[in-house]
Amino acid sequence: MRSWLLIVFLSFPLAAPAAAADWTTPAEAAGFRTTPSYADTLAYLKRLEEAAPGRIQLQTFGISPQGRPMVAVIANANGVFTPEGARAAKLPVVLVQAGIHPGEIEGKDAGLMLLRDFAVTGKSPHLLDHEVLVFIPVFSVDGHENSSPYNRINQNGPDSMGFRGQSQYLNLNRDYIKADTAEMRAWLSLWRHWRPDFLTDIHTTDGADYQYDLTWYLEDPNKLYAAISDWQQKAMAAIIPAYEKRGHLASIYLEFKDGKDPRQGIVNFGSGPRFSTGYAALQNRPALLIETHMMKPYAVRVRAAYDLVALLLEHIGRDPAALLAATAKADADTIARGKIAAAPVALTFKPDLVSTRYTLKGYAFRQSPSDVSASGWIQYDPAKPATIEIPNWNRLLPDVLIAPPAAYAVPAQWTDVVARLRDHGIVFKRLDCAVTVDAEGYQLGDPKWATQPFEGHLMLRSVTTSPVSRHETLPAGSVIVPLDQPAANVAIELLEPDAPDSLLRWGILDAIFEIKEYGEPRVVEKLARDMLAKDPALKAEFERKLKDDAVFAASPQARLNFFFQRSPWYSVQRAGAYPVLRLDAKMRDILSAAVAGKSCPVPEVDSAYRDPR
Ligand SMILES: [Zn+2]
Repeated sequence: MRSWLLIVFLSFPLAAPAAAADWTTPAEAAGFRTTPSYADTLAYLKRLEEAAPGRIQLQTFGISPQGRPMVAVIANANGVFTPEGARAAKLPVVLVQAGIHPGEIEGKDAGLMLLRDFAVTGKSPHLLDHEVLVFIPVFSVDGHENSSPYNRINQNGPDSMGFRGQSQYLNLNRDYIKADTAEMRAWLSLWRHWRPDFLTDIHTTDGADYQYDLTWYLEDPNKLYAAISDWQQKAMAAIIPAYEKRGHLASIYLEFKDGKDPRQGIVNFGSGPRFSTGYAALQNRPALLIETHMMKPYAVRVRAAYDLVALLLEHIGRDPAALLAATAKADADTIARGKIAAAPVALTFKPDLVSTRYTLKGYAFRQSPSDVSASGWIQYDPAKPATIEIPNWNRLLPDVLIAPPAAYAVPAQWTDVVARLRDHGIVFKRLDCAVTVDAEGYQLGDPKWATQPFEGHLMLRSVTTSPVSRHETLPAGSVIVPLDQPAANVAIELLEPDAPDSLLRWGILDAIFEIKEYGEPRVVEKLARDMLAKDPALKAEFERKLKDDAVFAASPQARLNFFFQRSPWYSVQRAGAYPVLRLDAKMRDILSAAVAGKSCPVPEVDSAYRDPR
């Protein structure tokens, strides 16, 4: 560990003496023993903005639940601080974020140093000539201020660090799709405003010990348009050798199949739309997850983040047109797919069972039985580097596929659903008048929920989805979501019941499974007799079930429900009728015309009673 520290301090730039004293960042001044508070972080950034107003601008894009400003730093060599300016000058927008997990905070301290070196010390004045950087120094600002030496048991410094959950105990890196938190809704407003061309999300890893000071992750090519995947694969192939030339050692992200035995190999960690990189994939954007290694000293980790982000920005600046072309192509491909008979879209992915080989630069380790855990205990020896060949199961294959519709229709009353479409920048049209449509829908059945909360939700673990035809009247105010738009893949993830992060799976629509009216047993007794008398087939089915299903036969309630559930008093309640409809191209066009055509009277609430929100 000591040799690491020595390398780090020798490799830090020695700026001109007067400037060095003025612009030392708080973490540098503390010898990387501590990381600054949010107030001190913002104070340093404000000084930079005042010293270089043509290069740095701070923008507040949200307010945290505890009332803190959520600040992004916009940086460009020629003072381009707006998305319109970036588009006019053909500059890609690069979003770099730190502190989504605020205990993992090297990205913030690296960012302060990098912005300083770009803006005022003359070390990297041309870093942002050909791109606009949007830098979030701390995403989870309330979690950052909930600081303790005990927040990250696996991690080697700084002395005190933020807490993984924000102030309502929610993990922002699981909130991308459901967007429950004020922080995520603010982030989505930043995303809508800038529509960045590239996202980098900086973390510190947990897990095993090994030689690498940094690991990195890209979404699997099967989750991305070819233009996006090719661009990011090529970028990392160019950047990693340059990164290692600066004295680092990097690896693809290392999720071990068996945490107690690295020889069993590595697997894909899963990601998905609730995570930053998985969300960017749905928005047709390349994204890089950076994980510095938790056991390396904080100074080493800050340097690792600094060098990788600097090289990334240099790489993008050398050929900004290539990145812009890739994101434009992916958006165009999404729009084109929405216009024609739809090609299948993968909702879930499974591991490719064919592995490749991976050379792990690890450490010697010892496995011993433990009488404490009554299991095995792995202990690494960082003094003894060891290289081993292991299997790599990172590759993914499409699993559950669906044919997307031409458009979705969301009835007006599902306001939570509509609000989330808006949060994600999904374009939709509102019906001014009620319209009757023929559409596809889903009948859902046999719902099973998790029994433990996850991110504040009891998730719907499994449900059957049967396609059905629907003839329904959509009330005025219902929204039509055409899929010939750049954010189409986000709409599909939110609205297809089988998508792992659909609003249905998160429990936003749980009420559709509830029966509101039950039959009194004395009433259903009579109903059952009437039904049995009228329907010999039903009688035979009932008798067969009594014979074959002992649990059913022993339950008076199940026996009566057999009849109630086959009666119009049950079917009228429409339990499990998924409210979002799938429209074909013809119906989409009819409804688009209806949107443009008429206007219907809208009732208004007297002013004294209006919703203050
Ligand atoms: Zn993290």
